[in-house]
Amino acid sequence: MGQNIKKVMIIGGGIAGIQASLDLAERGIEVELIEKNSCIGGRMAQLDKTFPTNDCSICILAPKLSECSRHPNITLHTLSEVKKLSGQPGNFKVKIYKKARYVKEDECINCGQCVEKCPMRVDDEFDMKLRKRRAIYIDYVQGVPSIMRIDKENCLLFTKDSCRICEKVCEREAIDFDQKDEEFELNVGSIIVATGYDIFDPSSLTTLGYGRYPNVVTALEFERLICASGPLGGHLERPSDKKDPKKLAFVNCVGSRDVKNNPFCSSCCCMYTTKEAMIAYEHDNEIETSIFYIDLRAAGKGFREYIQRGRDEYSIKYIKGKVAKILEDDQKNPLIVYEDIDTLQVKQIKFDLVILATTMIPKKGAEELAQTLGIKMNDFNFYKANSYQPQKSSKEGIFLCGACREPMDIPNSVIDASGAAAKAAEIIMRG
Ligand SMILES: Cc1cc2nc3c(=O)[nH]c(=O)nc-3n(C[C@H](O)[C@H](O)[C@H](O)COP(=O)(O)OP(=O)(O)OC[C@H]3O[C@@H](n4cnc5c(N)ncnc54)[C@H](O)[C@@H]3O)c2cc1C
Ligand code: SF4
Ligand code: SF4
Repeated sequence: MGQNIKKVMIIGGGIAGIQASLDLAERGIEVELIEKNSCIGGRMAQLDKTFPTNDCSICILAPKLSECSRHPNITLHTLSEVKKLSGQPGNFKVKIYKKARYVKEDECINCGQCVEKCPMRVDDEFDMKLRKRRAIYIDYVQGVPSIMRIDKENCLLFTKDSCRICEKVCEREAIDFDQKDEEFELNVGSIIVATGYDIFDPSSLTTLGYGRYPNVVTALEFERLICASGPLGGHLERPSDKKDPKKLAFVNCVGSRDVKNNPFCSSCCCMYTTKEAMIAYEHDNEIETSIFYIDLRAAGKGFREYIQRGRDEYSIKYIKGKVAKILEDDQKNPLIVYEDIDTLQVKQIKFDLVILATTMIPKKGAEELAQTLGIKMNDFNFYKANSYQPQKSSKEGIFLCGACREPMDIPNSVIDASGAAAKAAEIIMRG
């Protein structure tokens, strides 16, 4: 029997990957955490508050982010992806491709002077393209590691061979345009995949008007619109005329439970639409909200009570009805046309702003990573989990956790991560 390497690799630094890393590190096991973005945090960092407690999302996440970056047993590899895997459980060899940051990690102090002066403005992906960022930037204010990066595709030095303003203003001499992408190999005993999810693009559902009607947005865009650190500084206004919206509608199951798109349930939308309606009401208690649903899947502990609280304390109206289409009047107000499932009548209601609860879908690139690792996908293109031990992938020594194996909320992702960490530790502790 070969040597057993006492190290675990975790691919993906969202809440699931972070929790698994911290569990293992606390057990004295070394962790190599691979994140393809320039900061860890995943989708949870984009959320304003989280159900079922309505705690501020970043307030819960931030201590875990810094613990991850400071823990002596965790080595963080950002801007990195897995390119090749060989070996066997207990002794895997993994080739990592790391993109250049063009900023020296040990010099940058995130003072922001370079950002202020950078002339290049591009869509900010973290803010769902609702505002612009610069070509030198950090993913989000509280991002970890707290270091800038230069986006080569948009930086004027790389595209037009002129500029270097950031280099001139940086007193720490942290800019380094000579950095190169690099490849290196890591040797680990087991692997946890925690690469999370993407969001269904509702533009293809032309009847809902997303992309054509300014006052139809997605739920993740709404998280950013209502968040104090988001593009509106937390004061909700509707995109078309900047007025305060008073009548909101949420449409559940957009792109999910639908054989033409994704037949599976997205599992979180019934809860997060209630949460978003609650937050909107807390911002302005003149806001009236209707939530259109097929059925309410509030299966977690305290979830039914949460929905009831939405009804009783936040005046949320739950309408059991299938939304057929969204129209727009000449004031740009969205009009929801739906079939009332109780009366079987087709009805129409006018709103100021409509929010689409788009389903969580498999992460772009998940299939490619599955091929690299030699693990299987399920019928819906999430990673295939063992039916009885869901943290096990189809390959020995490789484990799964969080929304990369099925749509999952944060509490379940955390539980899943601890399960995967325990399984990954078992392999390397065999000796
Ligand atoms: C609008 C909306 C609101 C929500 N609100 C709530 C809520 O209030 N409460 C709640 O419990 N849940 C909520 N959720 C669900 C929550 O976002 C997920 O449960 C959680 O983010 C799952 O965490 P994760 O770590 O599995 O995945 P992610 O958050 O997606 O993190 C995955 C990480 O892996 C990285 N990655 C991906 N591919 C690779 C790769 N190939 N190599 C390296 N790194 C990679 C990504 O960059 C990312 O950092 C909401 C979801 C949505 C859409
Ligand atoms: S690169 Fe330099 S100017 Fe920019 S944030 Fe870092 S230390 Fe400040
Ligand atoms: S060199 Fe690139 S990153 Fe630096 S200021 Fe100019 S455009 Fe911005």
